[in-house]
Amino acid sequence: MEKIAIVTGASRGIGREIAKTLAQKGIKVIANYNKSEEDAKQLKEEMKKENIEIDIYKADVSNREQIKKLVEYTLNKYKKIDILINNAGISEYKLFTEETDEDWNKIINNNLYSAFAMSQEVIPNMIHNKNGCIINISSIWGMVGGSLEVIYSVSKAGMDGLTKALAKELGPSNIRVNSIAPGLINTSMNSNLTYEELKELKDEIPLGKIGNVEDIARCVNWLVNDEFTTGQIISINGGWIIT
Ligand code: NAP
Repeated sequence: MEKIAIVTGASRGIGREIAKTLAQKGIKVIANYNKSEEDAKQLKEEMKKENIEIDIYKADVSNREQIKKLVEYTLNKYKKIDILINNAGISEYKLFTEETDEDWNKIINNNLYSAFAMSQEVIPNMIHNKNGCIINISSIWGMVGGSLEVIYSVSKAGMDGLTKALAKELGPSNIRVNSIAPGLINTSMNSNLTYEELKELKDEIPLGKIGNVEDIARCVNWLVNDEFTTGQIISINGGWIIT
């Protein structure tokens, strides 16, 4: 039976590649986007050329009402949700002393609240089916803390906490919950880094390179097919941090 997956933040970067990979493996994908409608439409067209139909759905996943509509749309059309990838996220570089309440609310809502509320909305269906796989895309900064990215680090550490606690609560319902914590991945999220900065960072990474979106999508594909991994934080970072 065809599996159904929602991927949040699938218009660009890591989420886009996850959506593509899952769709290419025969999973029906609902690719969520918010601001980048043109990119989302392009993704749909790209998939069509491979004879793959995906759904694209606009929703701000920091907003409960819009999340409800996304989940409602999926359940009305496909009757179930097997896989949820909480990927949507934003980042910001700022001195901690300059951070405002607005910064806090914006980052926590986009990165952490979104995963909390998305999970809450899909889990009743997963429990009913006694089947589910939730993957939270967190970050190495949630594990070790990132200077000038304090709120971002808090949001990602929160995601990892959500992963561990939910894995325990939902294990008996055969729902697996894991985090993938990427290191430095080549997407527009890092477009602020100069050539020199990127080179310096590369030198710190034992594998001597920056990751690409395929590195993360491969792990998602593995986790989706696995049956005994839950509550884990899997960090894909070229050896940059080893805990
Ligand atoms: P990206 O290229 O900037 O893409 C971010 C995606 O998130 C976009 O598709 C964007 O959609 C979506 N998004 C943001 N806020 C949203 C919201 N409220 N509702 C719906 N969609 C929303 O970033 P990326 O590098 O692919 O990052 C993806 C995830 O990986 C993030 O959670 C990020 O924190 C994490 N991560 C990235 C790296 C890295 O080095 N790149 C490292 C560690 C972790 P729209 O443009 O349509 O709004």
